Amino acid sequence: MPDCLFCRVVAGEVPADVVRETDRTVAFRDITPQAPSHVLVVPREHHEDVAALADADPAAVAEVLSAAVAVARQEGLTGGYRFVMNTGPDGGQTVHHLHVHVLGGRGLGWPPG
Ligand code: AMP
Ligand code: ZN
Repeated sequence: MPDCLFCRVVAGEVPADVVRETDRTVAFRDITPQAPSHVLVVPREHHEDVAALADADPAAVAEVLSAAVAVARQEGLTGGYRFVMNTGPDGGQTVHHLHVHVLGGRGLGWPPG
């Protein structure tokens, strides 16, 4: 197992504001929120990015997305929201453990930077 920040969050070794957990996913607030509601949803198991998870276990991709929908509902984002999965250097990924950003609570611009 690589030395991975989000594996350490999942293990409880790094404190996080956890908002939702399932047997296979954990959701916690982003430490640098970019919107009034900004939650990260991660699989408990380490996978570098969505491509790695899709290759290893496609059904788990659906589980992570379903967990993100549940988080959006729990956060009360009735006006809409955005899921972001930054992937690789051009995608701006900085933590190499797959995570879905759930962003909402304000109007979000398009296109992204
Ligand atoms: P990305 O750039 O898509 O890889 O997103 C990584 C996200 O992790 C960024 O939005 C960071 O603000 C967030 N982040 C980094 N460290 C922590 C932490 N300890 N707890 C919660 N969020 C974090
Ligand atoms: Zn990890």
